[in-house]
Amino acid sequence: MAEHVLPEPAVEITGVRELARDLVVVPNRNVQLVPNIGLIGGTHSVLVVETGMGPANAEKVLEFATDYAAGRKLYLTTTHFHPEHAFGAQVFSDAATFLINRAQATDLATKGGGYLEMFRGLGPSIARHLEGVELATPDIVYDHSYDLDLGGRVVRMRATGRAHSKGDQVVTIPDAEVMFTGDLVEAGQFAIFPWFPPHDTDVSGTGWIRVMERLAAEQPKIVVPGHGDIGGARLLTDVGDYLRLLRDETWLRRDSSMSQDTIVDEVRALMIERHPDWAGQDWIEQGVGCLCAEHPHRNGDSEQ
Ligand SMILES: [Zn+2]
Repeated sequence: MAEHVLPEPAVEITGVRELARDLVVVPNRNVQLVPNIGLIGGTHSVLVVETGMGPANAEKVLEFATDYAAGRKLYLTTTHFHPEHAFGAQVFSDAATFLINRAQATDLATKGGGYLEMFRGLGPSIARHLEGVELATPDIVYDHSYDLDLGGRVVRMRATGRAHSKGDQVVTIPDAEVMFTGDLVEAGQFAIFPWFPPHDTDVSGTGWIRVMERLAAEQPKIVVPGHGDIGGARLLTDVGDYLRLLRDETWLRRDSSMSQDTIVDEVRALMIERHPDWAGQDWIEQGVGCLCAEHPHRNGDSEQ
């Protein structure tokens, strides 16, 4: 990726949207490597979802959250360990209780350093934002799900199992029917497959499809994607439909022992035809690579 195509990954506290009583989102303004950031309040506590990439972005988020909380206790969680979601957590260490699922904590501890190096190589403005990053250690770690009482409001945090990463987590606010999905869902963009063999092969297309089926069945009223515009339950079914089509078209060609380059060319053209307005076309190839590796016939002779 060339530097000129990647804008400054800067969080801006503008256009803040109130989705429900005491529940706001700082939208990512469709800027790459900036996540949608959530603040969810109860009578005695406020939960922040995502930090932005690096200490300077996280300082802005913490300042806004401190104002917003107006004396209430702060909690921080992140949907998964990727840099723009979690690599600002250190800034919250004295101000908030950092709470995540165990698989994500393991991702952060085992893969965080490698991602720091990889992202520093994406260009000077990203490297600048990653200066001084120290990977944070969570204060509370849970295994499967955690109900966080904010006072008159309970937020449910759940580990989904391996999908976009090994440690994905969704955050739901049942009283407002809102779901934060992290990068399990992007709006107006092809699903991000961080498939970088041999360095990172944790993403699972088949796992992701199962997760999307479960989440779509819950029919939340409002879905906050990792990146892109806030929407409804339709965002969940759109991602599920895309992933199933990507799997089916990839496996159909894999069955015919077509070369992987040809599979990529054909599937990529099909997906772009289906979603001409979606950004991130380069992620299609990564998705095809991941699903080729998950092809059932191939798995018979691999170590999986
Ligand atoms: Zn991600």
